[in-house]
Amino acid sequence: MAPLAPGDDGPPPGADASSEEGAPAPRGRLEGKIALVTGGGTGIGRAIALLFASEGARVVVAGRRSEPLSQVVHEIRNHGGTATFCRGDVSKPDRVELMVQGAIFNFGGLDILVNNAGIFAEGTVVDTDEKRWDKILGTNLKGAYLVSRQAVPAMKARGGGSIINNASVHGMVGMKNGAAYCASKGGLVQLTRAMALDHAADRIRVNAICPGLIDTPMTRDADGGTKWLDQEVGRYPIARSGAVEEVARLALFLASEDSSWVTGAVLPIDGGFAAA
Ligand code: NDP
Repeated sequence: MAPLAPGDDGPPPGADASSEEGAPAPRGRLEGKIALVTGGGTGIGRAIALLFASEGARVVVAGRRSEPLSQVVHEIRNHGGTATFCRGDVSKPDRVELMVQGAIFNFGGLDILVNNAGIFAEGTVVDTDEKRWDKILGTNLKGAYLVSRQAVPAMKARGGGSIINNASVHGMVGMKNGAAYCASKGGLVQLTRAMALDHAADRIRVNAICPGLIDTPMTRDADGGTKWLDQEVGRYPIARSGAVEEVARLALFLASEDSSWVTGAVLPIDGGFAAA
């Protein structure tokens, strides 16, 4: 299957990549791999799911709402890829078990996990009540722990794998009025390092990506919406927000053999924000 960018209509009907002087069709970088992308129905997770599928992976997308998930699955299938979805909340252990079992049942195992599901809410420690704190930490940090706990044995059974934790540049540097979010993402960065050490011998690589401002439903829905987005852009050395496809390409690098000696890395993708 040829690499597709979201919105790309792909090769014309009847086009055959292998027909040119008998040359074999180019193989995708994730050919034969099975990937689970949490929060795969929208934003960054959607872009990762589409790119991974276009590189040959069979993909399970997971999240709480069916509609965006089924749309992504349709999009992947319409482009000749293979995907299914599993509805569930990453902070609920029984649902998480179904996500990983879904990959095993449908496709025969699991090689790549992207812990991407996440939520944002503003607040200092004073005005973040316990319910909100637990929800943010439960999704962004405990969710990654719960899915990884199921995924590691499945990857071990396949002889290795790659786990990519979608943290945030605010897991590396603080932000005002985002106490719970920063705590959750900082925790995810350290979880990445600890897991990289624990599972290196199992040939499971664990890395974190730390996006800066990316134009997604999460940032568009933030207080102030697109006006806030425009203001934030002024704080970035490369003075624009990032695109979901740019983050997906970094995730692809970490998922593929191109990064075979990279583990425990915490990689900003932030237009230079964390360099300041
Ligand atoms: P989106 O809101 O588009 O994506 C978040 C996804 O997570 C949604 O698909 C949502 O689906 C899913 N999700 C949320 N809570 C849960 C849950 N409890 N269980 C399962 N799925 C859940 O925003 P982004 O694409 O921007 O965010 C993706 C990740 O990227 C997040 O972890 C975010 O923190 C991180 N990030 C984003 C940045 C940005 O600027 N946009 C910057 C840095 C990091 P549903 O609601 O259906 O469950």
